[in-house]
Amino acid sequence: MSILISACLLGINCKYDGKSNTTPEVIEFVRNRQVLPVCPEVFGGLSIPRTPCEICGKHILSKNGGDFTAEYLRGAEITLRMAQAAGAKFAILKAKSPSCGFGKIYDGTFSHTLTAGNGIAAEMLAKSGILIANEDNFRDIIK
Ligand code: SF4
Repeated sequence: MSILISACLLGINCKYDGKSNTTPEVIEFVRNRQVLPVCPEVFGGLSIPRTPCEICGKHILSKNGGDFTAEYLRGAEITLRMAQAAGAKFAILKAKSPSCGFGKIYDGTFSHTLTAGNGIAAEMLAKSGILIANEDNFRDIIK
């Protein structure tokens, strides 16, 4: 059974700034497990690098006002289809991201302020029954 993982946690340079969120603890945890690396924002057609976005109400906007809602939704849908095809029951997703964050995300003011909420892809995956963890709590959630 595959574990879905935010690709940036594994060291893939798919972040908005062209870098990664390499997390050695996650890499070690999945060393002998089957994983499915995903980047919903890239799946949605966004480039690397790209302008960072936050969820602002019903839209996903960049700091300069561009509306990327359609790309975020498309990427989340593709991620969900891949997860279902792989039979994934668990996901380790990057905290706070407008795609991958779960429980807390940035509040749409581009001021590094967190609020309760889920990223677009994380929300879709959770609604489909996939258990969501992040790089800080995965050891407690995925046994
Ligand atoms: Fe990482 Fe998810 Fe952002 Fe892609 S969309 S860079 S996987 S946090």
